[in-house]
Amino acid sequence: MKNTMLAINAGSSTVKFQLFNMQNETCLAKGMVDKLGKPDASFELKTSTDKLVLSNIKQKSPGEIFDLIISKLDQYTDDLGNLAGVSHRVAHGGEHFQQSTLIDDNVLKAIEDNNVLAPLHNPTNVAFIKAAKNALSNVYQVAVFDTAFHQSIAPEHYVYPIPYQFYENDSIRRYGFHGTSHKFVYKSYLESIGSPEENTKIICCHLGSGSSICAIKDGKSVNTSMGFTPLAGLMMGTRCGDIDPAIPSYIATKHDKTLQEVEDILTKESGLLGVSQISNDCRAIENAAKKGDSKAILALDIFCERIRHFIGAYWLQMDGCDAIVFTGGIGENSRLIRQKVCTGLESIGITIDEARNQNNEPQFNGDDSKVILAIVNTNEELMMAREGLEVIDAC
Ligand code: ADP
Repeated sequence: MKNTMLAINAGSSTVKFQLFNMQNETCLAKGMVDKLGKPDASFELKTSTDKLVLSNIKQKSPGEIFDLIISKLDQYTDDLGNLAGVSHRVAHGGEHFQQSTLIDDNVLKAIEDNNVLAPLHNPTNVAFIKAAKNALSNVYQVAVFDTAFHQSIAPEHYVYPIPYQFYENDSIRRYGFHGTSHKFVYKSYLESIGSPEENTKIICCHLGSGSSICAIKDGKSVNTSMGFTPLAGLMMGTRCGDIDPAIPSYIATKHDKTLQEVEDILTKESGLLGVSQISNDCRAIENAAKKGDSKAILALDIFCERIRHFIGAYWLQMDGCDAIVFTGGIGENSRLIRQKVCTGLESIGITIDEARNQNNEPQFNGDDSKVILAIVNTNEELMMAREGLEVIDAC
């Protein structure tokens, strides 16, 4: 039985990929195409012994990029002959997809029908699926949806309080994203403590360039901070997260901008970058804050306040929780953010052990804490490969 899986994680500006031996879940090769579609796009591939960097691969179509990935994997590994399937990250599965799904023509059409819900991401995902079907016609292709994990959320948490016909006719509702990461992280956490999923309540904080929080009860997502789009919820690197919904039209009128121009500001020029006026990179803002930069300090304060806001909401929704788990580039590495988020919560029984936090220990709560504070390194590509293989095994 073939047991190699390729995970393709195509975003709006990068394509990350990893090839796994699923027998022992080891990564055989991983890489990335950066600055997708730009003249200075680059390609990188690493195996346990080799590293290849192509600094200027020029503007290429998704088909050409996929072929490049396959040809270099073929050149640098011996494992493609054993390829069981390709798992594709798909940003939006709408209400149609509740789980990872084997891709046939009908599924591809249904994914394309959701393009309108994720115009920046789904068309790229579709292009890579088509390229993979062309290049590897005898290999299974599986779609792994960012939204699927959150399809268990109840209507009172996903229907917006706007006229109901916008949900019925236009599919406007909370979908939530980062599902693959939240799922990987809560499963890894429970595995690490040897716990089954039943009777567990976990708040998972994925804090990276994009950030979201998920409330997970008995292994199911019961609420999440992103919404109809990944612009909602927490403050992010360049995204504003939740703001007063009247602000966009106010800015548009006052500054003679189209709504699309305002949305671009809220997506690309806001968040940590917008408030700090320094960078979207948390490390740069932390450095500036240490030197006393007041906007950097404010940006970090807002960032943490938003995280605490959602932790509080999900704490109430689930009537407490067993663990708060941090992941993503910021969640896994920023001692300062974790400290600011987890300090001063003694009234709900949460204490932080600052020495453990500084050491990035997998559990950094105080011994007297009623709630575990944990760090788990996310691995979306491995989760995609696992789900893909499960789907293929069930065929
Ligand atoms: P993406 O969503 O693009 O995958 P990541 O999960 O890699 O993003 O997270 C990127 C963020 O993680 C950046 O804001 C970066 O500054 C932050 N980060 C990485 N390492 C650290 C660190 N040691 N301290 C603080 N922030 C960090």
